[in-house]
Parts: sequence; C-alpha cells; structure tokens
Amino acid sequence: MEKTFSVLNPFTDANGKTKFCITCGNKATKEALFIVGDGAILVEKYCDTCAEREIK
Ligand SMILES: [Zn+2]
Repeated sequence: MEKTFSVLNPFTDANGKTKFCITCGNKATKEALFIVGDGAILVEKYCDTCAEREIK
C-alpha cells in the first residue's frame, strides 16, 4: 500500500513495555508516522539506524 512519511518522533517505552524495531528487531527509539491510503495513519517503530535508512 502507498504510504507517505509524515513525521518522526522520539519513542520512549511507556509503562515499561519495550517495543522493537520492525526492521531489525533491536530496541525501538523512534516512532514514524505515515499517511496511508485514504488518510489513515500508520505508526511504525524503528531503532536509530533503521529510522535513518527508512525515512527519507
Ligand atoms: Zn532497526
């Protein structure tokens, strides 16, 4: 599905729940918002390295 990058936010674990990068599985430190399809928002978590690679 077409997705358009919107914003990248720092991500910190809430309530002690660790989230992991969807690309490499390391601990996530960034939260990227994409606009998909008819305006829905998709949130994906990345580590620093993958965020720089995935977000242009
Ligand atoms: Zn990663």
